[in-house]
Amino acid sequence: MAMATVGSVTRQIAALEISSKQNTTGKSAKPTHQKQGSQTNVSKLLTKFAAPNPFPESKSKSNLKTHHVKGSSSSSSISKLPTASQKLTRTPSPPQTDGQGEIDIGHYDGGFEIENEKRGEAVHGEAAEQLALDSSTSKSRPTREWHLTDFDIGRPLGKGKFGRVYMIRTKTEPRYILALKCLYKSEIVQSRVEKQIRREIEIQQNLRHPHVLRLYGYFHDEKRIFLMLEFAGKGELYKQLTKYGSFSERRSAVYIDQMADALAYLHAKHVIHRDIKPENLLLGINGELKIGDFGWSVHAPGNRRTTLCGTLDYLPPEMVEGKEHNEKVDLWALGVLTYEFIVGSPPFEDLTGYNATYKRIAKVDLRIPPKVSAAARDLIEKLLQYDSEKRLPLADVRQHPWIVRYRTKAPSTGGTQ
Ligand code: AMP
Repeated sequence: MAMATVGSVTRQIAALEISSKQNTTGKSAKPTHQKQGSQTNVSKLLTKFAAPNPFPESKSKSNLKTHHVKGSSSSSSISKLPTASQKLTRTPSPPQTDGQGEIDIGHYDGGFEIENEKRGEAVHGEAAEQLALDSSTSKSRPTREWHLTDFDIGRPLGKGKFGRVYMIRTKTEPRYILALKCLYKSEIVQSRVEKQIRREIEIQQNLRHPHVLRLYGYFHDEKRIFLMLEFAGKGELYKQLTKYGSFSERRSAVYIDQMADALAYLHAKHVIHRDIKPENLLLGINGELKIGDFGWSVHAPGNRRTTLCGTLDYLPPEMVEGKEHNEKVDLWALGVLTYEFIVGSPPFEDLTGYNATYKRIAKVDLRIPPKVSAAARDLIEKLLQYDSEKRLPLADVRQHPWIVRYRTKAPSTGGTQ
């Protein structure tokens, strides 16, 4: 595949974004996503809705009718594939083909059909209306109409709380590689997260940033909602962190720079993420970081008292204490993330229980191991400030000597520690 020119990139984006039917009369898909509904009890925060466990590799042969998939399965080829995101960021790398000039999306195991037979049920009434999510009728950015039959389906990428995620390719030119995430409506209703899902979808569909996972469109059938997501070629950051235990300071600094860049964009759009943690971060084809989960994000007209959210380890003092909070919660989480990348565990983790963690957060009981460089320590301390107003602003994070040092020399973060 030839390198995408600016013109072709623009056309490709337009092909996905612009509605072939420009339907603006339908109901707008209001907000959102996955993970918990509103929480008032700190103990409930420990429940993670999106199960991080991936599928076993797609070795199973399906005897079901499969969607058209060319070539043989190649589970290890995933990181070499060019994606829509790659085109968007204009950093293509050589595609892997199936020998017929087509990008190999791997073997489909029939999982959507198998699961649809035995999982979930149709929803009715208000819930059905709320979950009739279709990007072709979105008021803000209508897309063309999409259906499951518009795609070739490839290998499974993972499993979430509400359904499976598959690698897919659009059947018509330009043939995009995407990730298709399925959510079962009745399970969303059971978990009472209809509003959250709507909010997440609405927020994510309006975001365009190289370090924010793009949502290209969404559609639904009687039982399911499908999200057409940017394909994150290198998978979950969390897995990398588990594999290596911790990251080098160079790799950490590159990620934190990318996070700060993405957060500055979100905050400028008045979106507070509120759930920054390694489990919610994916890696693009070149190892670049992508914020991939907006289940707890909110539009921020002003300060909020809330409804807690997120995993306790990443919550700032003002949230564990049930006080008002604003976008500065994300600065705290960025400090926690910096620490966790370098050290390998979050700073206030206390294995004796969440009460102990809670106390350590409220006291800002920060103990930075000696292996952490002075520059990294300085950044962590400036972000993990009890008083949210004192936290280092994102623009200053990006100019911090620890970040700048590695930005200038940093190679791609993909695949190396
Ligand atoms: P989730 O339901 O978001 O937790 O997704 C389940 C799993 O599917 C994740 O843990 C990832 O391994 C995988 N996955 C989800 N979205 C994508 C994506 N856009 N690109 C690649 N893999 C993904």
